[in-house]
Formats: sequence, structure tokens, C-alpha cells
Amino acid sequence: MALSFDGINDRIDYPSVHTPVGGPFSFACRFSLSAASENEYFLLVESGVSDFGLTIWLRDDAGQQGLAVTCSGANASVLRYSAPQALVIDIWYDLIVTWDGNSSASNIHIYLNGTELNYVTSTDGAAPLRAQDGNWIIAGRAIDNLRNFSGRLADVGAWNVILSEAQRAMFNAGQPPARIQGASLVFDARFVGGNTIDAVTLNSGLKYGNPQTFGHPTNIVAINSLAGTFRQTVVSSNDSPLPSTVNVAAGAILPSNGQSVFSTVLQVASSITVEDNFEGGNTDIGRVQIANTSSVSPLITLYARPNRNIEGNSPSQIYYSLACRLTGVSGKAPTFRFNLTDENPNSIYGAGGWPADWRAWFSYDQLSWQRLSNSSVVGNFQEVSGDSVFTEDTVYIATRLPYNPSRVNSHTDAIMTNSVVSEPASSLGKNFIYGQSATTTRDGDGVVVPALNLISYRISNDASGPIDGTLKRKAVLISGQHASEDQGNWQLEAFVNFLLNDSVIANELLRDWEFFVYPMVNPSGRWGNAYRGTLQEGQRGVDPNRDWPGGSASGRLQVVSATRLAIEQDTGNRITAFIDFHGRLRETDSIFRFPNSINDSFVQSVNARHPVNSVVSSAAEGIAETYYRTALGVPLSVTSEGSAVVTSVSEYALLGEAIAKALNDCFREGLFHSHSLSVSGAFQVPNQLANVGNVENQLAQISIAELWLS
Ligand SMILES: [Zn+2]
Repeated sequence: MALSFDGINDRIDYPSVHTPVGGPFSFACRFSLSAASENEYFLLVESGVSDFGLTIWLRDDAGQQGLAVTCSGANASVLRYSAPQALVIDIWYDLIVTWDGNSSASNIHIYLNGTELNYVTSTDGAAPLRAQDGNWIIAGRAIDNLRNFSGRLADVGAWNVILSEAQRAMFNAGQPPARIQGASLVFDARFVGGNTIDAVTLNSGLKYGNPQTFGHPTNIVAINSLAGTFRQTVVSSNDSPLPSTVNVAAGAILPSNGQSVFSTVLQVASSITVEDNFEGGNTDIGRVQIANTSSVSPLITLYARPNRNIEGNSPSQIYYSLACRLTGVSGKAPTFRFNLTDENPNSIYGAGGWPADWRAWFSYDQLSWQRLSNSSVVGNFQEVSGDSVFTEDTVYIATRLPYNPSRVNSHTDAIMTNSVVSEPASSLGKNFIYGQSATTTRDGDGVVVPALNLISYRISNDASGPIDGTLKRKAVLISGQHASEDQGNWQLEAFVNFLLNDSVIANELLRDWEFFVYPMVNPSGRWGNAYRGTLQEGQRGVDPNRDWPGGSASGRLQVVSATRLAIEQDTGNRITAFIDFHGRLRETDSIFRFPNSINDSFVQSVNARHPVNSVVSSAAEGIAETYYRTALGVPLSVTSEGSAVVTSVSEYALLGEAIAKALNDCFREGLFHSHSLSVSGAFQVPNQLANVGNVENQLAQISIAELWLS
């Protein structure tokens, strides 16, 4: 806030604060005039009870105002008057005065909006100057009302040092007096909320007249340097929590009168930096191009970092993703160009352009993401932009919605206190952590990927069970096998959140099932934003979903082995449903499954439960899925492949929830029936489904898992 003085009889008197004369001194304030002024005082430091000492004032010279400093002397006063300034009513200005405390006028410096003024009068005084040991008076003088200030004052401060250029720049950049680093404050009356307390002496100023509270100029435009574009933030007089921020040309700057909070920042030609050395980053920094840096809409061209860790040197570009961190973009609305044609190894999506509804995303914190509205193909690039300027200086950009290992940690933290969530055997007593990925480095550069948690948790209502008295079924949910398929993790998180939402269906699921959840099988690959792999040293070419028993490169990856063993430890591999959540970038939502009656019924239920999308079923089969179906006889074993083409995170939730509901539907339909036939002891439980052929024909259709349940 600021205080408004009427120019008639308003002023504020403080008891003696500091004696400027004889030592270094600086004074600063922000002011805006409400009328074409005559001679008016900003500050009078009295000598003794009422004599003039130091006066910092607005001097009227034949109707033109200059800034002036007078240090009274018994014999001759020090005078320094600036040339007249074309001061505009209702525009905020920064005023800074510095003085060495002695009688030479040349050591008085007057700065307006950061620029030292030219002087029309510089008259040296004669020692001794007057004592300057009396009251400090703001906006007038005690002896009469002939010099009262008419306008607003804010950030009124003084120091017993001469402010350096850097310190003056801080004040001009909007910092209040208390934040001018390295300078010793002697007076700090910011008039916040109309309060007149000097934060240094803690003395309240005595108000004369009736100074009014007015909006504070948070950052003052350097009015003498009006080239360029300004960002203005205006909050309504009732302190609306939703400020309006706009970019305006110099001539369109809004005056600050009447605003509760008002901020104007010159959009200087800042340097924009692009980085990718953070969790989930993936940008070829050496190829970044930035044009029109100083404009509101710089053009930023981006290429993904070379990353060849899977299936030879030419991974399919449709799985590739790019993420970077920008700094220096507050107040800017950049246009981004993503390479489409340099397909191997690092184009984003590929020639022909992105699908119609695919967009890039931005975030200020990597937690909350917003979609950039506009996308089109321009030459060899996908050109993407938003509709408004960024409001923070640091912005994350990603070509798909990132789901990073840190989100798994925070989500687990958020749910672990729920009464139905517990540590399964694999992470019992280990804070839900069953292992860690090994420290490694990213592909394409040497950035260290830290060791990252492998997390497991169990969700079930242990106070209840299936109404037919059979044992609870066990379901295993995994995601994050493939580094670039964040969609799977969003689906799994939605599935878990659905389980915990206390709905009728969720409570039936918690009654009938034990869910064993492994939300991020490949955290290092995700951290390094790899294509599919884990970045495990020596095994960078191995796809995690080929590493399960029976896969083309099985048993090489530490994280897959650890997860497989954790599942075995937690469930005894007596599993009724295994769901592996993945993602695809091009296609619509899909369920990969081996065509059999249970899997097909499940896909039908997912479709029935999905309110928007048609979920395609594919006879392609993920390797983990195949392993649990064939080697361990799991009745329902599917891989969910969520599309990357979404308009919000909630679309992933639709698929995750549809899968949860479909699982319940299939249970209700009796697909996971538990036979009353007692087989325990009738024969040894075989390890291979093929051995079921030894059992009587009527049992052949019953999977091993079902037998375990009986
Ligand atoms: Zn995948």
C-alpha cells in the first residue's frame, strides 16, 4: 500500500531518526503526483525543534518541476537542483538521493527511475551545516502548510551508506527498502496498510491531516526508458485473488491509481535458458535454437536428446518424447518447434505431424500440467504455442504428460495411511520399498541417474471376503516397465485412487480381491526419459518387457528380476488377474490380450465401462502378460496400452477406472469362479498349465490359479 497526501495539510512527523549530516546518506521513495505541483517536500530533516536541516523536495521552477536537495548551513547552504522534469500525473516514479554529508554540492546525486538527473543549480555550502538532528517530516513541514506534498508515497527509506549502483537497481526493480541487500537501513516506512511505523526505530509517525491508503506500486516502471514491452499485473481494489496479468506496450501502461496491488515489470531482453538435466528431462541442448529472445513470443526450436538404447540405433520415433526446463520466460508466450523429420533417433512423432488432438504440456512444478492450446505443422516442425504468457520464470515443457518416479513416491506417501493399504511381504518393514534401481547414467550424455525406489503396496479390506465364502482373489498391477510410456502410470494411479474412493464398486473390489501393486518397475529409465529401457549398465539394449521368463532377452535386468521375485514373494504366484499398464503414442486406448473367453469378456467390460473411448482389443501380447498367463496359469492376464493423445489427465483416469470396474464386472459374472470341488491332496499342484492335461477333462478348463483358490 501507499499513502496519499492531499497537498493541503497532510503530513507525517517522526521523532529524530538519524542525523545525515557529516556521513554517507541515501534516501529513496516512490511517488506519484496527483496534481501539477508547486514546491513540495518529500522529506524534511529538521535541525533542533523546527529549523530546516536537510530537505529533499520537488521544486517548482516557473511551472516546471525538478527534484531538489537543500542542506541548510548557518552561513551558506548546499543546493542541488535538477533540470525540470516532465513529470506525469498519476504515474509512479522512483526517487533516490545520495549524499556524502559534506558541503560540496557535487556529492549530492539525484536519481529518477534509475537515471541521474542533469542539474541546473549546484551550489556548495559552507561548514558548518545545520545539525539535522530533529524530527523527520514526510510530505510537509511543521511551521506551515505551504509545502505539503500532493500525491502518493510508498517505500520511503533511508540508509547511512551511499547506495551503490547495484543497490539502486534493486530499488528500481521493485524491492522495498528492507530488501536492498548490503545496505544499512536507518529508516523504513513503507506505509503498508496505512501503517506509519518506521520498521527501524519502531516509532509511529504522527499523522497530520488525513493521509489516505492507496495501492502500492510493487514494481515501478522506469518511465524514462519506455522502449520495450511491459508486463502488468493488476489486482482489483478488493484484493481479488485472481490478478490480471497482461503484456502491454509502453504507451498502454495502466496508471496505478486506485489499484490495491499494482506491478509493472519491464520485459528486458533476458536470456532464455533450456536445460534437461533433471528428472524426466530429454532435450538435445546443443541443438536448441532461440530466436526473438527479447520479444514476448520467442521462437524456441527443440530436438530430443539422442537416445539409442533399445532395439538397435533406430527406435521407432513414435515412442519418443521430449522434455525440457526453460528459465527466463516469465511474461513470455513462446512458440515451440519440435522436429518432425530427423526421425532417427530423435524426432518427436515423425513426418506428417502430430495427431490432431495431441499437444505439448507445460508446468511450473512438474506436478500440475496444462496443455498448450495451439498446434500445427510448419515445414519440418510441429509448431506449438499457448494462448497466454507464462507467469513464472521457470517452466517445464513436455510432449506428453510426464509421470516421474518422484510422483510414485508422493502418491505412495499420500495413500499409505489408508487403512486398506499395507506393506506386502516384499516391502514389509521397509517403508513400501522392495528394492532400488542401480545408479546409472543417461544415454546420450553422462548425467547421473540416481538409485530410485522400487515400491510395492497391497490394497485390500481384510475385514471382509467374497460373499460365497471363497478366498480372496489376488490381482497384480504393474506399470512403468517402458521408460517412455507414462500413460500406464497415470492409468494405474487412477485405478488405485478408484479403489480408495469408498464407492460401492470399489468396496466390492476391496472385499473380493487383494491388490498387489508395483507402480514403477523401471524408475531409472523413466528418470532418464529413455525410449523403453532401464539404462542398466551393460544392458542398455534390453527391453524390460522382453526380460521376463520366456522373453527374448530374459533375466538380465535387475529391476525386472526384483519385481518378479517380489510378486512371487507377495502372492506365491497364486494370481487371478495380472494387469500390466503401458502406453502408446499413436493409437487409441487398447488392451493387449491372448484371445480367450476370460480375457475377451474383460475387454468387453472395459469397453462397456469406458464412457468415451472405444478400447481396441489386440491379439498382440506383452511378454510379462504372456509369462503370467502361460507359465503361471493366471486366468486374466492383459496389457493396457493407454493413448498419449489426451486433453487432460482425467482421460487416463477414465481408462484406469474402466479397468477397475471391468474387473469387478468379471468377478460378478463368475468368470473367476472358485470351484467347491476339493482338489487339494487329489494331486500335486503342477507348475505348468500343460500339466493340467493330466487331470480329467472336466478340469482342463480350470486354470491352475482357480484350483489354488478352491
Ligand atoms: Zn510398453
